[in-house]
Amino acid sequence: MQPQDIIRRKRDGEALSKDEIKVFVDGVTSGAFADYQSAALLMAIFQRGMTTDERDALTQAMLHSGTVLDFSDIPKAKVDKHSTGGVGDKTSLIIAPLAAACGLCVPMISGRGLGHTGGTLDKLEAIPGYRVQMSLDEFRRILERVGFAMIGQTGEIAPADKKLYALRDVTATVESIPLISASIMSKKLAEGLDGLVLDVKCGDGAFMKDYERALELANSLVDIGRAANVNTVALVTNMEQPLGHAIGNSLEVIECIEILLGEEKSTSADLRELSLELTAQMLVVGGVTDYIEAAREKVAHALTSGAARDKFGESIEAQGGNANVMRDTNLLPHARATQDLISDSSGYVTRLAAESVGIASMMLGAGRVRVEDTIDPAVGIILHKKIGDKVEHGEPLATLHYNDAHKLDDARRTLRSAFQISENQPPDSATLPLVRAVV
Ligand code: URA
Repeated sequence: MQPQDIIRRKRDGEALSKDEIKVFVDGVTSGAFADYQSAALLMAIFQRGMTTDERDALTQAMLHSGTVLDFSDIPKAKVDKHSTGGVGDKTSLIIAPLAAACGLCVPMISGRGLGHTGGTLDKLEAIPGYRVQMSLDEFRRILERVGFAMIGQTGEIAPADKKLYALRDVTATVESIPLISASIMSKKLAEGLDGLVLDVKCGDGAFMKDYERALELANSLVDIGRAANVNTVALVTNMEQPLGHAIGNSLEVIECIEILLGEEKSTSADLRELSLELTAQMLVVGGVTDYIEAAREKVAHALTSGAARDKFGESIEAQGGNANVMRDTNLLPHARATQDLISDSSGYVTRLAAESVGIASMMLGAGRVRVEDTIDPAVGIILHKKIGDKVEHGEPLATLHYNDAHKLDDARRTLRSAFQISENQPPDSATLPLVRAVV
């Protein structure tokens, strides 16, 4: 079977067989397919779409292009949560210890931030000493001991995705629901899970800006998970404004610690609520409880009792970090200077565009423009006002934490453009719910 025959069939709108898809993925992994042939096939898939059988075959072939983890000897349900990414989305740092405190085993393989969105690994690495690169043996030992472990993508897991994703990035073929679905699910299914909860972000700061497309992606991801016998649920959640109040790595870790200690500010309410809800869904897909109401109670207790806080401390120690950050957040990196963004009018915040806040934080150095860029863990933004909040003229809307004064003006202008302040309070009906759909 020649690559050009497979490309031609897809180009002409035919459905590819399981074998053809496997030949393609094996060819990508081994290098037998040239990049220009893979790129041509990706574009044909982008244009022609895929049937559900093709999409499932692509996922399976990508999944089996590398190591598939097997934790079946750990006598707990293996459940993970995956988010499609957003601004201020730090739920993993709260969810993993909460779920572990409730009896789940959470083998979390996370990514880095790119563009206006953040990444869990960058946040964890803000904790002095915390290691996210380790052998799969060490990953297993920490999982057994603590109940959760958080590492970076290894070259052994779904290597075909690494190559295909890099090609899609430079050939304008990222925004295809079957390609996105196969990419995400091949990596998640390689974790050897019993259950998976997907947080599909929707809105200004998300990859999927449009609700219908987010719902389509959620359905596609859930279909693949269930076809692979993994108990899968997806929540489509609101990403019009940032989640919580901190954007920037060290600042986000501090916000998570505040929640785990029960000392959070009112601007963290949405982050706390979503973290609790996603964890409760994990308990249900993992069979810890049969009903969501019982799961919610159990999760709330794990937070208020301090059990999740203790788990997070254990995890920091197990992964080489300084667990004293739980008691003293001054041990985390801090920016040398701060500047408030002051409101020049009175009224109510009616819009807080997540993407612009993410870009402003990236401009300060908290995020990457290109994969190879380095980041500054200390810098970022703290929001003092969120949608619906009352603001007086002269009050601070946000605080920029910075190390390089040259970056400040552009970042402040971008951050200012994210806020819309109007005289009238937005009606409750104008505020989107945090969870927009459960699939
Ligand atoms: N995240 C992934 O892992 N893959 C995609 O294709 C898009 C987002």
